[in-house]
Amino acid sequence: MKDTYYHKGMRKKLVQQLKSKGIEDQRVLEAIGAIPRHFFLDNAFEELAYEDQALPIGNEQTISQPYTVAFQTQLLEVKQGEKILEIGTGSGYQACVLAAMGAKVYSIERQEALHLWTVELFHKMGVKNVRCYFGDGYKGLPKKAPFDKILLTAGAKEIPEQLKEQLKIKGKMVAPVGEKTQEMYQITRVAEGEFIFQVYGKFKFVPFKRGVNKKK
Ligand code: SAH
Repeated sequence: MKDTYYHKGMRKKLVQQLKSKGIEDQRVLEAIGAIPRHFFLDNAFEELAYEDQALPIGNEQTISQPYTVAFQTQLLEVKQGEKILEIGTGSGYQACVLAAMGAKVYSIERQEALHLWTVELFHKMGVKNVRCYFGDGYKGLPKKAPFDKILLTAGAKEIPEQLKEQLKIKGKMVAPVGEKTQEMYQITRVAEGEFIFQVYGKFKFVPFKRGVNKKK
């Protein structure tokens, strides 16, 4: 795993591109500028790691497009020291972006093979502040709740009640909602039983599924 001047140069260009597409949160741009996205991909995709596109990570899943990662992270309004639950660890890239912004991250993945791969990668990279769990994120992570923020990185038909219940008051959740394509929701828990929904642009995610997939 090497992060060369070539990679760093490519990353700078990617950050410029994200800025020109409307990402304004300087801390999000800094995190994306700092994290070697090519570490999260198979060597075969190294050349494409800094293009603004989603890429396959195995098990029919994808690492989200950098713009999507930046957009979701910006909507999450991450602050230093916050406790964040991510659903859909996938490659681990998004979790690393949150950790680089000073968050304490809990991330769940339903595909055991991906979960194990990411745990090993984080170990090799020396990533701290991300705890990975294998399980069905539909139920959230009640034993670690409540969270300041919850980020869903798979497309959901609807937002599970259990997840909303695991937000602190004033906490926020960002989730893509819809079947074939999704709209980005930002949900704020303003009081115990009161939520405000704001809807942003259209995106395309892999589906949010129930249950787990054990490694064969
Ligand atoms: N955040 C990831 C994006 C991965 S794509 C990254 O940065 O690479 C979405 C991931 O959500 C997939 O790995 C998929 O297996 C996972 N997923 C889908 N439904 C899930 C569920 N109910 N619980 C946990 N993970 C889920």
